[in-house]
Amino acid sequence: MPHKKIPMEHDKRIALVAHDNKKPDLVEWAKFNRQLLAHHKVYATGTTGALLEKELGFEIIRLESGPLGGDQQIGAKIVNREIDFLIFFWDPLEPMPHDPDVKALLRMAVVWNIPIACNRSSADFMISSPLMDKEYDRLVPDYDIYRQRKPSS
Ligand code: PGA
Repeated sequence: MPHKKIPMEHDKRIALVAHDNKKPDLVEWAKFNRQLLAHHKVYATGTTGALLEKELGFEIIRLESGPLGGDQQIGAKIVNREIDFLIFFWDPLEPMPHDPDVKALLRMAVVWNIPIACNRSSADFMISSPLMDKEYDRLVPDYDIYRQRKPSS
């Protein structure tokens, strides 16, 4: 399938989300990387965002709490090219009432070829990549072919 390029600017639009048991991990990670994060535009789900804003001391664009639709808002922003990077510390040991939303968000990140980190080591590797502070063309399959498909009847 041919691909299209979606440009990512020097300053990225980063979404940060953590389930309750993973919030301490995300806060610690974000504090350690505060300088690296500060010049990007940071979005977060409601409760994660409130914690991060308090700990980091810079503005976080806060969406709704995850179980109330925040994950879906982030997914929609990915589709609308408004978010280009996702750090999502989801909890593998707890059932979540919004499990379908979690899955949908992870799916959208893959559909739109968004870098995703779901644990601290991936987040460390991603944030320290030289690509973080460069423009980068994200390659996404040319979905026009999919849009124009003829459904079998
Ligand atoms: P929260 O949502 O930041 O509002 O806790 C996170 C989530 O459960 O997706």
